[in-house]
Amino acid sequence: MRARGLWACHLGPELGGQGYGQLRPALLNEVLGGSSWAPTIFGCRAPDSGNAEIPAHFSTPEQQDRYLQPLLDGEVCSTYAMTEPHAGADPLLFTTTARRDGDEWVIDGEKWFATNARFAAFLIVMCVTDPDAQDPHRRMSMLLVPAGTPGVEVVRSVGVGTDRPGEGTHGYLRFTGARVPADALLGEEGQAFVVAQTRLGGGRIHHAMRTIGQVRAAFDMMRERAVSRSTRAGALGSLQMVQEQIADSWIEIEQFRLLVCCAPPGSSTRSRTTSRCARRSRRSRH
Ligand SMILES: Cc1cc2nc3c(=O)[nH]c(=O)nc-3n(C[C@H](O)[C@H](O)[C@H](O)COP(=O)(O)OP(=O)(O)OC[C@H]3O[C@@H](n4cnc5c(N)ncnc54)[C@H](O)[C@@H]3O)c2cc1C
Repeated sequence: MRARGLWACHLGPELGGQGYGQLRPALLNEVLGGSSWAPTIFGCRAPDSGNAEIPAHFSTPEQQDRYLQPLLDGEVCSTYAMTEPHAGADPLLFTTTARRDGDEWVIDGEKWFATNARFAAFLIVMCVTDPDAQDPHRRMSMLLVPAGTPGVEVVRSVGVGTDRPGEGTHGYLRFTGARVPADALLGEEGQAFVVAQTRLGGGRIHHAMRTIGQVRAAFDMMRERAVSRSTRAGALGSLQMVQEQIADSWIEIEQFRLLVCCAPPGSSTRSRTTSRCARRSRRSRH
């Protein structure tokens, strides 16, 4: 993929990517979504794709050599630990804390659904560092935590979909007095929301486009079934109701795809082409 110029297309050339902006990787991810292995082979699997952007922007040169480069080379994987057992959609409810103790941060709390936690080389952890800050969006900071740090425990790994019990990859994590050095802070203190947007802005588009790829694969199976399955009345696909269901599915997929392409641009998702797409869609509504 590297030789063909298709490795890590979401990244800029300075990080070994192609500098394609948002739209082209989005269209690429639509194709890749049909295969569970493709994002790994193309160097854009979640959560590593987004996780690379945080140390690239906010870590020290030493941290970049130690963590970012092996991640970009596809040698290690990483974890983004934001969600907590009691709070996901609303980060203002997070309670995991990091307090300064001399030259170190001490982390206490729990994280949930931390993908790849059991084999990641490092974790990016969102922690409350100033619970009393007047602006609630400045209460949290982002910290880089090396795997194996004493006090970091993978309580269990949770599965989704077809994962077998015990074989899931989404970690339930417990931090008990876990200590990391002062320079583990990624970005400024109190800036976790800004740092998070660096990775979530583009990621939400790529995730959604891969979902479309997955749904299209299911749609193709449905169409194949419709022409290969015979009933007493003929092929399944000759029945009007089946045709209607297939047409409805196609319309829903196209609607979803257009909504993703016209998603309100975040700080890093605006591209001239997506804006063009939004303008075209507005014109057609009028
Ligand atoms: C496969 C998978 C991988 C994941 N990987 C990671 C990861 O690597 N790192 C990580 O940190 N997290 C990860 N997550 C967690 C993910 O970020 C959360 O699931 C997500 O933020 C939603 O949180 P929740 O599941 O707690 O939903 P909830 O917060 O319980 O929300 C449930 C529903 O209620 C709605 N809702 C909630 N609150 C409100 C409100 N105030 N107003 C209106 N609607 C509301 C939500 O939109 C949602 O539809 C992963 C999740 C999945 C499924």
